Amino acid sequence: MKTFARLVAVVALLPCGRASAADALPREVRCMLESYPAHLCGFESGALVTCDGEHITWDDGREKTLWERFLEPDPEDVFVYPYPATDAWPPAPKDDPGVIRYEPLLVRMYGGTAREVERRLVRVKWFGRSVRMAPDAAAALAEVAAELKKLPARQHKFFRKTAGTFNWRAIKGSDVRSLHSYGLAIDVGVPYADYWRWAGLDPKKFGPPAYRNRFPREVVEVFERRGFVWGGRWSWFDTMHFEYRPELLCARRAPGLAPPAVTP
Ligand SMILES: [Zn+2]
Repeated sequence: MKTFARLVAVVALLPCGRASAADALPREVRCMLESYPAHLCGFESGALVTCDGEHITWDDGREKTLWERFLEPDPEDVFVYPYPATDAWPPAPKDDPGVIRYEPLLVRMYGGTAREVERRLVRVKWFGRSVRMAPDAAAALAEVAAELKKLPARQHKFFRKTAGTFNWRAIKGSDVRSLHSYGLAIDVGVPYADYWRWAGLDPKKFGPPAYRNRFPREVVEVFERRGFVWGGRWSWFDTMHFEYRPELLCARRAPGLAPPAVTP
């Protein structure tokens, strides 16, 4: 009976087609529900509810520094850096939209080991070869490829060659897993890419090196329209890198709005 009552409560909050309940939710919660409908089926008592009935607390209530949010996030922390508006170009300094990821949910959705993730990957055609992506991201990436094909030939060097998608590994210098681990990221155009690690750090000052990018805006916008965030929008820039984070694009700022100040 208890299980039945919970099921009723969850079904009552299903995002699709139940506008009145969904409208009352914070925008970021709605974006999570809309972005991962195969995995998240509702929001109840301050928790995301997975489609198999597990509750994931949205806000752990802790005061955290940005570094603590990176290392020990809750789902709400993912949105601490809002994704910039389409007209915010080049990206604002000290902005890192997307660098905070809530890993327990990723594990639940895509697998907790290389083998578990790999088993679920599906193939996507990518300019004469095929790459492997998580099912959620695969359809979006196929649409990206179809749209990129239409761009002027001079821009094709930025995406035709890929340096890979799935790769079970932590982000260098941390225990936090890269989105490549879950088959949710792709690296393209490496010879034309800029990466903060290649630029070298200035030992006299704390923070990333001077921002650099050669990728054209048109290429980036194709990925963003299909739910991929771009590593070139991070102050710790990685311009070859795109990762599937439709929840951030869903919640992105309207054009013309300045980036908010982020408290360190
Ligand atoms: Zn990458």
